[in-house]
Amino acid sequence: MKAHRTLLIKLLENNCDIGYIKRLMALTNLAYRDYEVWVPDLPKTIQHQLYGSFKNYMESLVLGTVPKRWFVRAWVPLKVLRVYGDDSIKGDRGAPVVLDFRNNVIKIRWVCKNEVSIPMPDQVVNWINERLREGGDVKFAMIGLKDGEPYLALIAEREIVQYTPSEYRLVVDVNSWRYGIAWGLIHNGQLVSFKQEKPNLNELLTLYYQAVKRGRKHGALMRIGLHHTTQGKRLRRQAKARRGKIYRVTRDKAYFLAGKLVRKALKYRALLVIDDMTEESRKELLEEKLPRDVIKLLMSNLRRFICQLETLAQWYGVPYVFKRLPSTICPVCEHKLTQLPGRIMVCENCGFKAPRDMVPMHWAITFKTP
Ligand SMILES: [Zn+2]
Repeated sequence: MKAHRTLLIKLLENNCDIGYIKRLMALTNLAYRDYEVWVPDLPKTIQHQLYGSFKNYMESLVLGTVPKRWFVRAWVPLKVLRVYGDDSIKGDRGAPVVLDFRNNVIKIRWVCKNEVSIPMPDQVVNWINERLREGGDVKFAMIGLKDGEPYLALIAEREIVQYTPSEYRLVVDVNSWRYGIAWGLIHNGQLVSFKQEKPNLNELLTLYYQAVKRGRKHGALMRIGLHHTTQGKRLRRQAKARRGKIYRVTRDKAYFLAGKLVRKALKYRALLVIDDMTEESRKELLEEKLPRDVIKLLMSNLRRFICQLETLAQWYGVPYVFKRLPSTICPVCEHKLTQLPGRIMVCENCGFKAPRDMVPMHWAITFKTP
């Protein structure tokens, strides 16, 4: 099985011809559908690259799922030539993307119209080195537009073998940030550790109310036509900065937790059980009549967390399953649970009682692995 990890690098707009990238993306969509369209005014090399080796990409790239609609823009897959520090070379010499580790530059040919050479920042070099140490290699890249801006995606690929899980199970229950992401480590039917991880909610809510307050003041100025003043602009900028900070806090937490949990699974050679109940959590927050904005904040970056958790699990060969582990149904007799104050769940049928966030762990203990 092959696993992939992606690193996005933003390209400078003056290095790229956006219109040209758009055309290449449209041609890529056609190539996915087995059409070869030879366009006279595009370099032959890039068109050969697109049609000649496309089948290889299809097999190799997980990202290469067929675009759902016609004419939707698909990222353009590209071969990568690697020139290492010891002068050894890997890959096709005619590849449009060259990673030159002797000078730490990325050269892109035929895709940005002219050849461009962009310096490889240390973090990119470090990321690639880490992937190489893990036995991977950056054989492919993709170029495309994200929110109208050009990006190069470096794709590391690695041949992996999943380990056979031990007697351990690591259960990850994805709730809103309000109650946090709960994880439990189960060994031979016993819960040995349990934790709910969440960002500092007070900090987030403070930032949120500050943003709301500044937004309101800005609105008031707008109504009297003074929003273009220095004060108006400052309020707008401050509100935006706070919203951005909130988003970054949950994003960093999401990435941090995904890394931490995959390392934990590796340590115990555990089966990773992921319960994605973000929808249920959203409903719970709606029932609590929280403002829509706050709900959005409490749900931000959870998709990203699950995506990153799955990517890392694949990359490190951690066996994982997605499993619904309900928190409102009794794990003993499957009767509906009643919620008491303090988020305690009880079963009126068999007497089972547990905190709401622990119920999924009880389910995880009972289910049989396929
Ligand atoms: Zn029961």
